[in-house]
Amino acid sequence: MANGNIDFTKTPLTELYGSNQFSESVMRQRLPKSVFKELQAVMKGEQTLTLEIAEVVASAMRDWAIEKGATHYTHWFQPMTGLTAEKHDSFISPTSDGKVIMEFSGKELIMGEPDASSFPSGGLRATFEARGYTAWDTTSPAFLKEDRTGVTLYIPTAFISFRGEALDKKVPLLRSMEAIEKQSLRILKILGNDSSKHVFTTVGPEQEYFLVDKSLYDKRPDLILAGRTLFGAMPAKGQELDDHYFGSIKERVSDFMRELNYELWKLGISAKTQHNEVAPNQFELATIFASANVATDNNQLVMDTLRKVALRHGLVVLLHEKPFAGVNGSGKHNNWSIATDDGINLLEPGDSPHENAQFLLFLAAVIEAVDRYAPLLRVSAANTGNDHRLGANEAPPAIISIFLGDQLSDILEAVSGGGTVKAREGEMMIIGQTSLPKFPRHMTDRNRTSPFAFTGNKFEFRMAASSASIAEINTFLNAAVADVLAGFAERLETTKDADKTKTIAELVKESYNNHKRVVFNGNGYSDDWVAEAEKRGLPNIATTVEAIERLTDDSNIGVLSRHGILSKEEILSRHEIYLESYSKKINIEAEIMLRMARQSIYPAVNRFIAETAKLIGQVGSIDSQLSMKRQREILAYLVEKAEELAAAADVLEVKVKSAQSIADPSKQARSYRFDVFVAMSTLRAAGDALEEALPRDAWPFPNYEELLFML
Ligand code: ADP
Ligand code: MG
Repeated sequence: MANGNIDFTKTPLTELYGSNQFSESVMRQRLPKSVFKELQAVMKGEQTLTLEIAEVVASAMRDWAIEKGATHYTHWFQPMTGLTAEKHDSFISPTSDGKVIMEFSGKELIMGEPDASSFPSGGLRATFEARGYTAWDTTSPAFLKEDRTGVTLYIPTAFISFRGEALDKKVPLLRSMEAIEKQSLRILKILGNDSSKHVFTTVGPEQEYFLVDKSLYDKRPDLILAGRTLFGAMPAKGQELDDHYFGSIKERVSDFMRELNYELWKLGISAKTQHNEVAPNQFELATIFASANVATDNNQLVMDTLRKVALRHGLVVLLHEKPFAGVNGSGKHNNWSIATDDGINLLEPGDSPHENAQFLLFLAAVIEAVDRYAPLLRVSAANTGNDHRLGANEAPPAIISIFLGDQLSDILEAVSGGGTVKAREGEMMIIGQTSLPKFPRHMTDRNRTSPFAFTGNKFEFRMAASSASIAEINTFLNAAVADVLAGFAERLETTKDADKTKTIAELVKESYNNHKRVVFNGNGYSDDWVAEAEKRGLPNIATTVEAIERLTDDSNIGVLSRHGILSKEEILSRHEIYLESYSKKINIEAEIMLRMARQSIYPAVNRFIAETAKLIGQVGSIDSQLSMKRQREILAYLVEKAEELAAAADVLEVKVKSAQSIADPSKQARSYRFDVFVAMSTLRAAGDALEEALPRDAWPFPNYEELLFML
């Protein structure tokens, strides 16, 4: 179904939705009742998977996939590159008569062994034991992917080493979900809730991206290799008119979006909201929330599908955090909450004193977690591209704080004895000794400048990098909150029933008073906040390198290992992988700049210099009275800038060579950040000045005006 020619009157969306997903309803139809039930129990973590069940599920999956045209299957996993990986096998098995039958065994479903020695493992997988194993993740549904010529069955899997260490982003996420479930159930039990059997975190990501015309993209080596422009002067118009944000969507783009939705809906991914974003040619897509694990898988598929469908429309999707200087970059908003299997949102303010106690406890836990583990959350947003956004007046600063809104802050102040709350008669709630107004159900406060905002019944983490997996953000968030909940539970479990309400009130009060420094309802983009945050002692971890370095802080190793999410060794390996990946990315960008400057920009400038010099000579030979003053000035300026460009390139080259020679990953990454990256800015400034001085047709690359406005 290319070109977006979808007739929804012929194919109702309700039928199309999830048609490529091995969903619960497909399983219910195709699996024997007993197997279906057992698999559900496995998915909920109540039972371990047996080979017998796997055999039955595998054959049902195979039949379903083959009926839909599949010839291959693949274990789909998420190695430490942050991308997804796959290795396809066909279902064929030769028979003695020269034919084949289509086979897919339980063993093949459960476990794969890709030759995965080339993925980053940060030393976890010695080369003599290079094997990595992919293990079926029953909690995320299998799906079919269609490309131009075939259909493949995709099985979401976790990627682990021979010794069971996490080699991917999914294993820690699943472990963190277990941790927060365990601790939340303890709290619920204390609150007298025996009916909720499971707790999971819910996540709804909003994905931002840019679109550029493919033919222009193909002429920009920086876009092709680094995903962002490394040179580029501002066009006459940027985003100052605010005319793109929520503007009417151009037809070429809406054609693309229609087909994008169609592809996502088939996969059972609930693409819901789409609109123009702030920067020209920037857009957003939000899907409806799901469990953190499924949402993470789905977001990977969203990024993948965006790229694939764009190409069919002669477009390229840029997921980079800052593809263009001078206009807003892209982020990802990670909406997050905690829910029970019987439909309770634990961050939903309620009507009864019981619900209020529950809400306040979980809210206090999140506030305390974010304050205590702010550096860990900052690490989760650390990304080469994000360094261009955070604190640059288009995204939250690198300081982690929480926005609660005035109403909720007032309530918490009252609970913690620091203020009074005005409320009308009959709207009072009692928690412990404190009278409270009813919680407003839908708090409409909006604060776009906070990195972590409470939005009525969920938190929105706004620091996430647009190109990155959301696995780690949710892993770290779950870990931090689980840890605080564990502390709460310990205290409350030893409290006598009669004192429980009082102790809960005390706990909330204490926790809030100790951690309210992280609450900030004002303008996060202002310089005042940076100063104020420093006074409050909040960490301001400005760069990716500094953030990655914090991953190995004792408190971070402590919280992650205490709850079995990542061991010290696993954390050290990630630390190394992230530092190396940072250095490699900056190295690539620097190398691209050197080539663009020396092989394209410098020669182009020299051609125009020669042309101008020739012109001056020719005109002078006709009439020596003509001074050609302006032409001579332009010539001098161009020569000067060309020299600047060449000199800046030479400096950059020296810095790159020196960074390359550093063995220690941390020192090397610092050198890339504080030497190479800085030298890149100087080179860019020289290049951009030349772009503005040269005739338009002499500039060797498509310019910002074309890239940002021509669609
Ligand atoms: P915004 O005003 O920020 O655009 P929306 O109400 O459109 O917010 O929701 C943004 C995202 O939040 C959507 O993906 C939505 O599914 C998700 N969301 C809503 N409720 C929850 C929840 N309880 N847990 C996690 N995500 C949620
Ligand atoms: Mg939002």
